[in-house]
Amino acid sequence: MKLILLAAPGAGKGTQAEKLCEHFGIPSISTGAILRKNIKDGTELGKIAKTYIDDGKLIPDDIMIKVMDARLAEDDCKNGFILDGFPRTLAQAEKLDESDIKIDYVLNIDVPDEVIIDRLSGRLECPKCGTTFHIEHRKPKVDGICDNCGGKLTCREDDKPETVKSRLNVYHTQTEPLIEYYASKGMLRTAKGQNEIADTTVEVLKALGE
Ligand code: AMP
Repeated sequence: MKLILLAAPGAGKGTQAEKLCEHFGIPSISTGAILRKNIKDGTELGKIAKTYIDDGKLIPDDIMIKVMDARLAEDDCKNGFILDGFPRTLAQAEKLDESDIKIDYVLNIDVPDEVIIDRLSGRLECPKCGTTFHIEHRKPKVDGICDNCGGKLTCREDDKPETVKSRLNVYHTQTEPLIEYYASKGMLRTAKGQNEIADTTVEVLKALGE
């Protein structure tokens, strides 16, 4: 299974990618996580990415395409993968089309903007392992501590209200056109995001015919 997950920031793309990764036994590739790791490690890519991410803007296409070319050539991608966060622009989608990678489905998780703003404003993330929580909807067992690895939970820099607004704006102008692009190719499946993570997973699997 080669799958693209398409959704606005905060629509639960990362969490559903983890679920699908378990379901299909294939890796989930999060471009955001790759970039955040590079920022943490202080690499050249990380230094460039930080300026864009902190502003809620997209990293330039040529850089992202190189990063993904390298990642998708790794051995663990041979039997399939879930792309969480790529492509995010028409230029990225067209580059992927030109490659010899054949994508099976593009899944759009549909969540209204008001719900997204509420979710992102309460989101907490473990900087060590990347697991996400929410102060109301997905509370950690112990306040401020990651259930998975015991790391100290923080709010992502780019989840601050001004940056969220900019990320949503970028999503509507640059990423949303991909819905029409993939629909016209007959590749699009849509799942309505639900309040509960498990309910969204049911919708997602149904949309994929599982
Ligand atoms: P995410 O964790 O998927 O929300 O990504 C966090 C940030 O990383 C985004 O707001 C962008 O600044 C950057 N980013 C992730 N994926 C891409 C991409 N495919 N193209 C450009 N920028 C990206």
